[in-house]
Amino acid sequence: MRKVYSSPKTNLVHFAKSVLEANNIESVILREQLAGVVGGIAPLDAWPELWVHDAERLEEARQLLEASMAKSETLDKPWQCQGCGEKIEAQFTQCWKCDTEFGLSES
Ligand SMILES: [Zn+2]
Repeated sequence: MRKVYSSPKTNLVHFAKSVLEANNIESVILREQLAGVVGGIAPLDAWPELWVHDAERLEEARQLLEASMAKSETLDKPWQCQGCGEKIEAQFTQCWKCDTEFGLSES
């Protein structure tokens, strides 16, 4: 496995994984359990990491992420809670109302 992406924001890592999945690149998120300490921002040494299974697709994965991150302004906009429909500010990865985590329903 090769690390392809890391971010203090769990929702960005989840987004990155969904991009790779959409392109049939198998990936896994590591160290996610260490994140989300304060407002979803993990300390530098505990950032969740996205790893690809197939090292041969690492470069392809990197380019896909680079492209999608660049045009994905939506990540800095509020998201809607899957649990209760509340609008949540982009810096939070968890709903303040019902504790549903961003992207949880996908896993
Ligand atoms: Zn909610």
